[in-house]
Amino acid sequence: MNVLVVNAGSSSLKYQFFDTTTGNVVAKGNCERIGLDGKITHKQLLSGKTYTAELAMPNHAVATRIVVDALTNPEYGCVKSMDEIEAVGHRVVHGGPYFFESVLVTPEVIEKLELCRDLAPLHTGPHLMGIAGCTEVMPNVPQVLVFDTAFHQTMPAEAYYYPIPYEMYEKYKIRRYGAHGTSHRYVAGEMIKLLGKPAEETKIITCHLGNGSSISAVKGGKVIDTSMGLTPLDGVIMGTRCGAIDPAIVTFIMEKEGFTPAQMSDFMNKKCGFLGVSGISSDCRDIENAIGEGNERAALALNILNYQIKKFIGSYTAAMGGLDAIVFTAGIGENTSLVRAGALEGLGFMGIEIDKELNNSVRGKLTKLSTDNSKVQVWLIPTNEELVIASDTEAIVKALNK
Ligand code: AMP
Repeated sequence: MNVLVVNAGSSSLKYQFFDTTTGNVVAKGNCERIGLDGKITHKQLLSGKTYTAELAMPNHAVATRIVVDALTNPEYGCVKSMDEIEAVGHRVVHGGPYFFESVLVTPEVIEKLELCRDLAPLHTGPHLMGIAGCTEVMPNVPQVLVFDTAFHQTMPAEAYYYPIPYEMYEKYKIRRYGAHGTSHRYVAGEMIKLLGKPAEETKIITCHLGNGSSISAVKGGKVIDTSMGLTPLDGVIMGTRCGAIDPAIVTFIMEKEGFTPAQMSDFMNKKCGFLGVSGISSDCRDIENAIGEGNERAALALNILNYQIKKFIGSYTAAMGGLDAIVFTAGIGENTSLVRAGALEGLGFMGIEIDKELNNSVRGKLTKLSTDNSKVQVWLIPTNEELVIASDTEAIVKALNK
């Protein structure tokens, strides 16, 4: 099936066009500066032909039209006409308490997604615009929503409730939802295959470490806990996000610095993390380079991350009553050996042993990092969220046609 996978942001629309029979991406690209001047960057992957243009993109519908034109272009496109686009799959950041799995877009689904606006104000509006844009341009093409929160919906109540008055949950739906669920689901699924035993018997910790990072405990193929919370601000230190901090720090800084709630939110999301601690950069590559030059604050930033991952591994092993495998994925998990080695250092007592030389040399490709003596397997598994979105979309749309 030909599936267009869409990731709509406030001023961008990223896309990948999949042929699900081969699992290959045949074209991909990005529309940027929607609502401003507009620019498309498109690549046909079979021929390597590219197309870049600055075009007026007042809204997501116009951007979608431009994407469809690129996909159907005889020179750099990949299909003859729009009729060959069989389905659209959308990445959706927050499904609130309403969505446990991927769903077909219907008016009722849109109504429920509207209720998620408060939970992910920066993302839900743009997603809705992306869906509306596709509906306008391709009214007869079925659309599917794949939620970043859905895989985490299996958490037990004690893992997702916060110790605040119950009315706050009832009134505002405040609870742990988690994030990066599509990535955790993909790598956990691959890890279960690699373990070669029934999914129900597996205990896996998945570490999605990128500009945003989250760690999940996946027992029997289902998430029982995850480090991100109501929003993607919770959990470990990130590029610019603070992760979990003493909640009293929030009001303390607001009072001392005279910050409004919006300024405090901006501070915690954009000024903290690697950037805030190191004073250098939010990017792990810059942090690594600075460590190489002897910068102590850069080393501190990375050590905080390593230490926090180690603590999550310990607590999630206890929560699952054991551990079969640890997976590292996303930008840092796939590329930064210092983090993988640092996080696992000293965990020999848990039966975790990695091949240090191999760990130092490998980047971005499926690799078993643990030694044959290690009781717990450690793997680098490159994530592929778009493939999950394309597969879910295909499954839902095929079921419609039965
Ligand atoms: P992500 O959010 O998954 O794209 O990850 C971005 C993070 O991965 C940044 O902190 C990057 O510095 C880090 N990273 C380290 N090495 C690489 C690499 N070779 N390619 C991409 N990201 C990398």
